Amino acid sequence: MPQPPKRVKRRSSNASPARPGPPVERLDGQPRAAHDEHSRISHQATQGVRELEGIFQSIGDAVLVYDRDANVLRANEAAFQLMGATEQPEYFARPAAERYALMPMRDEHGQLVPPDQWPTTRLLRGEQIPGSHPTEVRLRRLDGIDIDVSITGAPMRDAEGAIIGAVIVMRDVTERRQLEGERHHMLAVVTHDLRAPLTSMKMRAIFMRRRMDLGDVPTAHDLDQLDESIHRMEYLVNDLLDAERLDAGHFTLDKRPCDLTDLCRQIAEEQSAATDRPITLDVPSVCLHVTADVDRLAQVLTNLLSNALKYSATDRPVTLRLSESAGCARVEVRDEGPGIPPEALPYLFGRYYRVPGIEVRHGTVSGIGLGLHICRRLVELHGGQIGVVSTPGSGATFWFTLPLDLPQD
Ligand code: ADP
Repeated sequence: MPQPPKRVKRRSSNASPARPGPPVERLDGQPRAAHDEHSRISHQATQGVRELEGIFQSIGDAVLVYDRDANVLRANEAAFQLMGATEQPEYFARPAAERYALMPMRDEHGQLVPPDQWPTTRLLRGEQIPGSHPTEVRLRRLDGIDIDVSITGAPMRDAEGAIIGAVIVMRDVTERRQLEGERHHMLAVVTHDLRAPLTSMKMRAIFMRRRMDLGDVPTAHDLDQLDESIHRMEYLVNDLLDAERLDAGHFTLDKRPCDLTDLCRQIAEEQSAATDRPITLDVPSVCLHVTADVDRLAQVLTNLLSNALKYSATDRPVTLRLSESAGCARVEVRDEGPGIPPEALPYLFGRYYRVPGIEVRHGTVSGIGLGLHICRRLVELHGGQIGVVSTPGSGATFWFTLPLDLPQD
């Protein structure tokens, strides 16, 4: 549980504390009335301060108040959480240079923000950082997690206009930045990967027209090449659309009872024929019944098998295994390719992820890193789980489970 809201540092008052003395009463009773009025005002003021404190603490954004030397006077609960400082409240009592050293701040190029550009420095020299032009930086929180934050703020001035401190408001924008990064990546993928087959189709069409102008007919090779480019475009567009709909939750499965044993056989045969490579099939002799969208299940199997085939050498075996355990069907696709390095595992089923350095060894259709993401979403929509076990250098086993239909009496 986070610590309760803390007051980081109190501003000391030079005035000597009021000493309670015996009430002096005048004959007309005025001092008593004045005293009552004073206590009423004082009570109201305390009440007001409490209310303000409540509002300050309940603000969802991190709010920090600084004095003119950039010491933190106050920080609300959201600030403690945003900075990962709930366990280290003493962090805020440190001087600015120590705080920035403990929580480095980097710009969009990954460069450390220099002291004269720290938001507090800018505000304390009179700059505003308005909501219309927030500063966005990456912070390494006290617990070591990197987050992107948007910072706005303003200097605080006294009645004469002299700067006496600053207020900063920070918001965690990590998720938004991540989405922007993905959109950017998707645009790059779409423009690059869709342009390649498009250009090839265009060239092929020009070439065929020239042939026809010379009285020749297009050859089977021309048509095959055209077909391949169309197939590639279709594959990319379908992946993009599927991922979009699955992620947005606009995807409905057409579930019916089906025999997973038979489906595994069919897909293994199809993939084997398409790639001219043997696939070792290890399935039970009985039917395993699941309720599933057969086309989408076929898509998952095809994807895992085609990855196993395309990322491993042509002379290495690929195995498709189906088994039953604890009310679930378990499908495993094993290859003896390069395997998956441990550092890639957390990202493998994410969008647009391709393991650096892993080359397509067989076939020409390289994907855009959406296949496994789509597989994960489809398996999860079926109530199953998906994963991989791998020893880098000696292959990978991608697996998924599906709940089996209950046996009918
Ligand atoms: P792609 O369409 O690029 O193959 P996937 O989402 O299917 O996208 O796979 C993501 C990445 O995971 C691939 O680009 C590849 O780097 C790696 N990968 C997938 N399957 C295997 C495998 N069987 N062996 C080694 N690497 C694999």
